Amino acid sequence: MIKYILIFYTAISVAGANIEGWNVQMNGGTLKERGKALVYLKGDLKLIKKRVPTDALPYLQSVRVVLGVPSNKGWAKYDNKVGEIQFKSVIAFVNGRHWYPDVLLHEMSHVYHAKAWEFDLKALTGPFKRHKARYEKMGRDALKLKPVPKNTLFLNYASSNEYEFFAEMSTVLFGVHRAWEQMDAETEMAIYSMWSEKKKAARQPINAREARLLLRSGRKLLLDK
Ligand SMILES: [Zn+2]
Repeated sequence: MIKYILIFYTAISVAGANIEGWNVQMNGGTLKERGKALVYLKGDLKLIKKRVPTDALPYLQSVRVVLGVPSNKGWAKYDNKVGEIQFKSVIAFVNGRHWYPDVLLHEMSHVYHAKAWEFDLKALTGPFKRHKARYEKMGRDALKLKPVPKNTLFLNYASSNEYEFFAEMSTVLFGVHRAWEQMDAETEMAIYSMWSEKKKAARQPINAREARLLLRSGRKLLLDK
C-alpha cells in the first residue's frame, strides 16, 4: 500500500506538484529516494509556513523548489534569475537535509532577502560586523548552541558575508530545527524587523526602547501563531 502511495506522489512530483503552496519538481532519483524527499519537503514546508510571518509567504512561495539540477555546481542554492531553489539531485537533498535540517529555511531566507529587500544590505552591515567580531572573540560562545547538532560550522558560515549571515540568523530566529538558545538583542531585532517590517520602515533608525518593544511584540506574534 505504502509503495503505491509513493508511486502516486512521485508521479505527481515529476510534473511539478503543489506542496503546501510551493511548486515542487523532482528530476531523477529512485522511487525510494523520491519518497523520502517528499516526506522531508512536506514536513519542512509546512513548518516554514507556520513559523515565518504570514506576510512573507507570498515572496517565498513565488519560487519553485527543484530537486535534480545536475548543472548546479554546489549542493543547494537559490537562483534568483530563474526563481528556483535548486538541489543537485534528489539524493543530495535527502542526505544533506538529514545533515542540515534547516536547509530549506536557509534558502528561503535568501529568497526573502532577494524578493522583499532586493538584496539590500544596509540593515545588515552593522549587525554582521558585530556578529563577526563576537564570533572571532568568543567562538562558539557567541551564541549558545542547542546540544544537537553540536558543531559550530553554521556559526562560522554566518560569518562569511551579510547574505549568509541573514540566512543563518533567520534559521536561528524561526528555529525550525536548529535554534540557538540566545541571540544578542541587536541581531535579533535587525533580523526580525527585516522579516516583519516593510523595506522603508525597517530602514529608519529606532532607539533602544523601540527595539525592545518591537522584539517583545514580535515574540508574542510568533508564540500566538
Ligand atoms: Zn546560503
